[in-house]
Amino acid sequence: MEHPSAYRGRRVVVLGLARSGVAVAKWFHDAGALVTVNDKKERDRCPEADELEALGISVVCGEHPPELVNEDVALVVKNPGIPYSIEPIRRAAELGIDTVTEVEVAYFLCKAPMIGITGSNGKTTTTTWTGLMLEAGGLKPIVAGNIGRALTEAALEAEPDNRMVVELSSFQLKGTKQFRPAVACLLNIYETHLDYHGTMEDYVVSKQKLFANQTESDVAVLNWDDSVCRMTAANVRSKVLAFSTKETLDYGLYVQPPLTEAKASGVTPVIVYRDEAGIEHELLPTSELGIPGSHNIENALAASAMAIASGVALEVIARVLREFRGVEHRLEFVAGMNDVQFYNDSKATNPAATTKTIESFQQPIVLIAGGLDRGSDYMELLPVFESRIKGLVAFGETKEKIARVARLAGMSGVKTVDTAANGLQITVNEAVEAAYAMAEPGDVVLLSPACASWDMFPSYEERGRMFKQSVHNLVKGE
Ligand code: ADP
Repeated sequence: MEHPSAYRGRRVVVLGLARSGVAVAKWFHDAGALVTVNDKKERDRCPEADELEALGISVVCGEHPPELVNEDVALVVKNPGIPYSIEPIRRAAELGIDTVTEVEVAYFLCKAPMIGITGSNGKTTTTTWTGLMLEAGGLKPIVAGNIGRALTEAALEAEPDNRMVVELSSFQLKGTKQFRPAVACLLNIYETHLDYHGTMEDYVVSKQKLFANQTESDVAVLNWDDSVCRMTAANVRSKVLAFSTKETLDYGLYVQPPLTEAKASGVTPVIVYRDEAGIEHELLPTSELGIPGSHNIENALAASAMAIASGVALEVIARVLREFRGVEHRLEFVAGMNDVQFYNDSKATNPAATTKTIESFQQPIVLIAGGLDRGSDYMELLPVFESRIKGLVAFGETKEKIARVARLAGMSGVKTVDTAANGLQITVNEAVEAAYAMAEPGDVVLLSPACASWDMFPSYEERGRMFKQSVHNLVKGE
């Protein structure tokens, strides 16, 4: 696309009336473009429509009319979640009209340098952590994108002395063309979102677009333990700042000794930064991190790398590493009762995330899992089911699939819970009570669904909140 201001007097179609669509539509309208916003939701489910129409923006709800995109259209800005297969987007491609996501628009509008963070798992935790490090370092970060505020809105507010810390999904990145973050981080690649991307290759290529326009003056933060990240390192033009929990690096962040060695010898590993001159700087023993789990050590390394690339002092980074207590719905401690601890990990929406969370505990676990069926391979859970899980309560679309894996693992306590007709909270209460009945003192009851929530709940946040409510009810004896 051209600079957004070049669309004055030209037609721009915004697909999707969510937060990002509204912000983009308003900006283009103010800049003199002829904007049409379209959403397939019925009009009564588009509360934002009235506000946009009052401004003089045309809004079409209820369908994606095929004639929406024609030769007169200069640009299509799509909501990241809308698939490329819908008619208006296919039509735009045929007519050679650029189709981008909000990220591309925000990139042009933003005066501050951008730090872009993506990966299959760990994005929100790492983005939040990085933001806190930059804040502590006085770099005035604005955290936006997949978390926080609409990116366009935040980008418009940014001044050159701010840093824009942006969490990015593969869906958002797929719709970028010239987007060029000064610091870009790919945390990891697991098999997920195949329902949207169709193939693993499309998913990986979308993630790698983060680095496509970087040059020698930019920095790529890459996970050296992940094969796709390593391959990416070989193909970027930017300076690679790698991180690893498995090996020491000539330049980058790692733990010393590496995690497997440390576990075998009982030594506490220390987070180390080796600078370009080859000098090692110790940041913090991993035992002093405020959040558990080897995946959070990876997130700590990634966030530290981005803070270093942004110029934050090492002692400031070490302080934030120690103080950070995590983000709600990610391995979040809820309550304890009769020496059974309850944890909410509702944000674990794929088997890889759930596996990592399970591996973070030493105690036996009764797991509550299940949700939207996206065609993931739940057999991935078999090893941790065999080694760590004593009981399973499954709900949602995937309950039978996950219960099957549990039975294969030889688990005796396997229960499935049907969605109650009289309300979701009742279903969740039933799941929590069933899990607690299987637990013994010293155990953990963990909600880590390995699935998205939308088959039953409006969002993973709501699923997590209901779980916490059920736990509190149980503890209070209600
Ligand atoms: P995202 O924003 O990518 O979904 P979050 O930071 O919200 O990631 O974490 C979601 C879940 O993913 C966590 O609850 C945890 O189970 C898992 N997770 C977090 N960080 C990592 C990581 N670095 N590697 C693998 N799994 C992770």
